[in-house]
Amino acid sequence: MAKPQIFREFNEESEFKGAEGVWYWSRLLTRRAGLFRPVVMGMEIKKLNLMNFDRAAMAAWFQARGEKPFRAQQLLKWIHQQGVVDFDAMTNLSKALREDLKAVAEIHGLTVVADQNSSDGSRKWLFELADGNRIESVYIPEAERATLCISSQVGCALNCSFCSTARQGFNRNLSTAEIIGQLWTVNRLLGGTDSRPISNVVFMGMGEPLLNFDNVIRATHLMQDDFAYALSKRRVTLSTAGVVPGLQQLADVTDISLALSLHAADDELRSKLVPLNRKYAIHEVLQACKNYVGEGRRRLTVEYVMLDGVNDSDKQARALAQLLRHVPSKLNLIPFNPFPATMYRRSSPERIESFRDILHRSGIVTITRKTRGDDIDAACGQLAGDFKDRTRRRERFAAEATGGLS
Ligand code: SF4
Repeated sequence: MAKPQIFREFNEESEFKGAEGVWYWSRLLTRRAGLFRPVVMGMEIKKLNLMNFDRAAMAAWFQARGEKPFRAQQLLKWIHQQGVVDFDAMTNLSKALREDLKAVAEIHGLTVVADQNSSDGSRKWLFELADGNRIESVYIPEAERATLCISSQVGCALNCSFCSTARQGFNRNLSTAEIIGQLWTVNRLLGGTDSRPISNVVFMGMGEPLLNFDNVIRATHLMQDDFAYALSKRRVTLSTAGVVPGLQQLADVTDISLALSLHAADDELRSKLVPLNRKYAIHEVLQACKNYVGEGRRRLTVEYVMLDGVNDSDKQARALAQLLRHVPSKLNLIPFNPFPATMYRRSSPERIESFRDILHRSGIVTITRKTRGDDIDAACGQLAGDFKDRTRRRERFAAEATGGLS
């Protein structure tokens, strides 16, 4: 029998499983039975972090508690626009509701354990999560915008060969609260309460966002919500290695900007750089991206890391131009950012220029991305975090680096 919508919404998320899920249901059913408080014997009650809710989920939650759905708008404004975490300070809520919320819910961002400043103004934070895992986010200020590069998973399962995150392995998906918590916390760190200095968000930190689809999408809803961060679709960018099923679902739930980590123009090389390509080949991925961006509605950003002697020849530039000629796109060339024990080197500036000129002449809008934050290991592909690796990939890399003697 199909589960009712409210059950699917709340009980399939990690945040609502186990004791908390049981507690939630006892609470809901008790309320529906007209009783005010649930009776939970011998069970530790874990409070809900309201940062896990987008507006729709929060409205449903309030409704299930016998409250008006518009309470969601009030709560979102307090949390995400005013930066208020104390229910007693939410003066447009009744005292009874505030007391009720205090009993069942909480609001908290992330704990900073390291804060590094780059000479170019970039800043990197290491955040500790409730389970002890650590993730990173990077702030990149520019003349007309301030971008936050955020993580969607603890580590990454995809193992791209040029990526430092991949070497760390993978632990788990981030919850919606942990994703939006990066933006919430950095806004507070940079601007204090009642301030939202971040103008752009990119999902280019640790993890593959389309493999954490529901939590990522809920976080993007908050980013775009007028009662939360009110960022336009152009100011929120999801970057993917090409998870085709996720790409196919994307247009149904969001209109944010899309970036594709391509890095090669042929399947043989791309499968070495991005192993996911063995599952979803280039033509299939590009078609799914084209379907999402639509005919001329917006442009796909294509990312291409420049690896010396690997994917940076003139011949490969021509193949890339051929591949992208019918894709409404702009191309970002990213000089490779080295990390310990990598087998790759960055392409020379002259090689990158020659590569870019070929693309330009073929009519592809091509930009060489300026490397930011490399003195604090905050540049593209360098984020690492600190967590227990469930894939044992870190061990294998260490063994390889020491000739199998570790
Ligand atoms: S490049 Fe992105 S998708 Fe690939 S391993 Fe690194 S974080 Fe994961």
